[in-house]
Amino acid sequence: MATNPYGWITKTLTTIQRAGWQRSVTPLQGRPGAVTYRNGQPLVNFASNDYLGLAGDERVIQTAIAATQALGTGATGSRLLSGHRDLHRQLERAIAQWKQTEDAIVFSSGYLANLGTVSTLVGNRDLILADQYNHASLKSGTRLSGATVQIYSHNDMAALRGYLQERDRYRRCLILSDSVFSMDGDLCPLAEILDLAAQFDSMVLVDEAHATGVLGATGAGCVEHWGCTGRPLVQVGTLSKALGSLGGYVAGSAELIELLRNRASSWIYTTGLPPANTAAALRAIAIIQEEPERRARLWLNILRIKQALQEKIPSETATFPEGLMPSDSPILCLPVRDVQTVIHLGHQLQQAGILVSAVRPPTVPTSRLRLSIMATHTPEQGDRLIEALGTQL
Ligand SMILES: *Cc1c(COP(=O)(O)O)cnc(C)c1O
Repeated sequence: MATNPYGWITKTLTTIQRAGWQRSVTPLQGRPGAVTYRNGQPLVNFASNDYLGLAGDERVIQTAIAATQALGTGATGSRLLSGHRDLHRQLERAIAQWKQTEDAIVFSSGYLANLGTVSTLVGNRDLILADQYNHASLKSGTRLSGATVQIYSHNDMAALRGYLQERDRYRRCLILSDSVFSMDGDLCPLAEILDLAAQFDSMVLVDEAHATGVLGATGAGCVEHWGCTGRPLVQVGTLSKALGSLGGYVAGSAELIELLRNRASSWIYTTGLPPANTAAALRAIAIIQEEPERRARLWLNILRIKQALQEKIPSETATFPEGLMPSDSPILCLPVRDVQTVIHLGHQLQQAGILVSAVRPPTVPTSRLRLSIMATHTPEQGDRLIEALGTQL
């Protein structure tokens, strides 16, 4: 009997379509910025992770071009073989200096940094305690590690403490949390997590993807923002959000970084970061340190838009039953009743010249509009967002 071993794919796609979970891509045109173009239509961009507007910054672009001219388009091999350049070490030193850690290591993406770090730190005799809203890359790293995992409810320190009572049944324990939750915009209570970790002999890995360049007096992230600089922890982050490039990093003790160089498969068995991305990230860090006014402008925009949203969408409306979700970051979320509504709203706003993310399951448990604010948004662009949302209540 002839069977089709791929027949299940058709069935799965039908299920995805029926649930309204089907994803598709539409291209944007031009350089990244506060205004982007889709099918030639200008859209004010509230969907980008380029919080400081550095992905389209002329200086960063020229630095990437110069690095490509000098060193070529690809790293050509693993960092351990032919792929290591002085530029990589310069970037790692700059990250370590910014984060005030002994050392740092760059990976080819933030996703790979989390995979490699979690699976290096723990194995099948160990315990992972993870926030329910952590990024998918931490969840993949957890699976790869083979450790036992307990998921605690979002930012619930009593639940975390409860699971820590079982810690002694395992060899090592690792607590995992986003610092800025990527689909919610709120922060983890890092100081409390670190206190619990110290009490129960546990390691902490915090994912600073959306905090780096955004939070803290020098933009070093949530660790700096919460006054936790120098405490024992593993900081992971990305070069692809506020730094406008591509790549991931881990910052921590010299021994941690040395261990990752020896054990993290997602660093060892993959090609090093290309010169253009490495140089761009290095330049972006320098600009962030030299121009604190960029971050100041970002926060001014966040506070202004947040206040306007709270005034315009006071509590429950038909479209936004819960108002604005709590946030201390450039990520502002408005929960929406269902998948159909959020898709419809995304289209309506686009017609009004506004680009936002319509986020839905399985990425998040409940559908929501996700707005990300940039330093380069003008007050008028903020007003346009508020006005467009105001017609959809
Ligand atoms: C974006 C993101 C990552 C992945 O970073 P990439 O460099 O894009 O692979 C990891 N963790 C969190 C919390 C993120 O938001």
